[in-house]
Amino acid sequence: MKLRKNALSLSENYIFSWCAEEGRQYAAAHPEAQLLSLAVGDVPGPLCRPVLDALQRALDEQAAASGFRGYGPAEGYPFLRRAIAEDYQRRGIAVQQQEVFITHGAKDALADLLRVLPDGLAAAIPMPCYPVYRDLCALLGAKVLPLAMQPDGGFPPPPDAPFDLCFLCSPCNPTGALLSRRRAEQWVQAARRQGALILFDAAYEAYVRQPGALRSIYETKGARDCAVEVGSLSKTAGFTGLRCGHLVIPQQLKTEGGPLAAVWDRLLQSFSNGVPYPVQRGAEAAYSAAGREACRTQIDQFLQNTALLASALPAGSVLQSGSSPYLWFRCGGDSRAFFRRLLERCQILCTPGIGFGDEGEGFCRFSGFCSEQQAQRAAVRLRQFDF
Ligand code: PLP
Repeated sequence: MKLRKNALSLSENYIFSWCAEEGRQYAAAHPEAQLLSLAVGDVPGPLCRPVLDALQRALDEQAAASGFRGYGPAEGYPFLRRAIAEDYQRRGIAVQQQEVFITHGAKDALADLLRVLPDGLAAAIPMPCYPVYRDLCALLGAKVLPLAMQPDGGFPPPPDAPFDLCFLCSPCNPTGALLSRRRAEQWVQAARRQGALILFDAAYEAYVRQPGALRSIYETKGARDCAVEVGSLSKTAGFTGLRCGHLVIPQQLKTEGGPLAAVWDRLLQSFSNGVPYPVQRGAEAAYSAAGREACRTQIDQFLQNTALLASALPAGSVLQSGSSPYLWFRCGGDSRAFFRRLLERCQILCTPGIGFGDEGEGFCRFSGFCSEQQAQRAAVRLRQFDF
């Protein structure tokens, strides 16, 4: 059978599957080991009460013909599009309801969006990066322009070489770096000059705790002409399993065939039947006052876990922390070898930096998505580890 060109161009192993497999093999060989996983970026749960109640109510509605919902609008129900637009507006960002498209999460949204772009684009990506960006570029036959992060972990400036597309993720997975306002302006100006598209991944915006730090690309002048923003409730409200996120496509963003939002709206009618109604009701609850408060409490716990893990690492080895659920630290050499040593000696799973691109070699990543007790146990083991 023939496949789409580039369908076989992905590297053999997705890094998180590699870590999980190594962990499984170790556990099978050492059944007595108490493994602690700080590797995969999944949340431990549970869902917060406002979300659970809304899910339950939405399910109960399905029991009567009067409340039953079949196919919903492909672009998302108005109640959730409005709740997300209002969330932006509360932050002083002028996003309108019709610019918000509900998606099955951020990863799906990026994959959907990229499949309408032409083959062979030049894609600028600050490295190390969320591995999905590179894989999507490979599928698209895009030429990746890897841009190494600054020595202090900060974002690189836009490249001198022309680019059609760039991926900016702030707070960054894996490094936790925050895109400064000045850097964001440079990227927006460069994208507008070149007619390039910025894909801003705001999956971790709710983790930003630095006062005045940028949480949306639309806080940057001119971004509405050149940027699409992707949001996710996965790490904000525990929706990694439920699946819900959004795209913001500003009205001003133009393509050869008219506004991208209008083109997208038409395309969606042909390739999506939308996100399940109960999930969208649960998502709406996550944006309510009670939902936001409950989510913030959980996020604060993950941030505290990350700070605790940072305190157990050698001084100076952590590059960024404070506004991210991830801890990016120097491991001093081969990151897969470090992964194995840490597993053998501490029964802790981390993510080798090489999995986020060659620029990630020499580093590893811990995630704070665990219980407080697990973070405490991990910190005790790490303090005894000979780095
Ligand atoms: N973007 C980044 C930077 C991520 O780290 C992740 C998940 O780890 C995603 C997107 C995927 O989010 P979702 O679960 O909404 O697809």
